[in-house]
Amino acid sequence: MKLAEICEFLDEYLNIKEYQDVSNNGLQVEGGEEIEKIGFAVDACMESFRAAKANSANMLIVHHGMIWGGIDYVKGVVRRRLEYLLRNGISLYAAHLPLDAHREVGNNVMILKKIGAEPQKEFGEYKGVKIGYSAEFNSPKSVVEIAERFEHSLILPFGTDKVRKVAVVSGRGGFAIPEAIEEGIELLITGEAEHEAYHVAKEGGLNVIFLGHYESERFGVESLRRVVAERLGIDTVFIHVPTNL
Ligand SMILES: [Zn+2]
Repeated sequence: MKLAEICEFLDEYLNIKEYQDVSNNGLQVEGGEEIEKIGFAVDACMESFRAAKANSANMLIVHHGMIWGGIDYVKGVVRRRLEYLLRNGISLYAAHLPLDAHREVGNNVMILKKIGAEPQKEFGEYKGVKIGYSAEFNSPKSVVEIAERFEHSLILPFGTDKVRKVAVVSGRGGFAIPEAIEEGIELLITGEAEHEAYHVAKEGGLNVIFLGHYESERFGVESLRRVVAERLGIDTVFIHVPTNL
């Protein structure tokens, strides 16, 4: 399948043009014209690139790309990554905020679905855009039981254990704690355990579950993989390179 056709589908499905953030969403590195198989990974890094090659994937779709705002110098890590991709004809496509916020396959929607909640309202304003969602359970659920549904979780138990109003911001979502407190959210689920989150959550009486940055952002790429395989009928593979962070 042509790289251009795949990019056209992705750009439209993920509303790439709506996000003018520094993550350079869309095709970041152009490999060959013809794509045989697509790898999906959370991070653009040498481990993901090598795994793509080992799996005969000549396109890689990631959540965290390798160009943030631009490239200042082509040396060191940047040179090695770029050289590897170009030498092996691997194209790199990144979808950062578009894949956090997406209504069908986004990280936040998928996390809410996993805990049995229907995404209701946009939540978590980041640089002018809401990238997360909030929801309300019909009957209260235990924070501890919610946390148990995930492989990795760290709880800050600063509210009541039974909660109705939850919000999710994948990745580094500690910035949304004040918004959660203001909106009467009882549980915020996010990714990275940030030290500065502790006292703000404690003083606001907010429960927080940290899933780990990587774990909270597997959802989007894995769901997007299923959609791409189904709609485009192309071979795909999920490349799991956990950071445990
Ligand atoms: Zn992230």
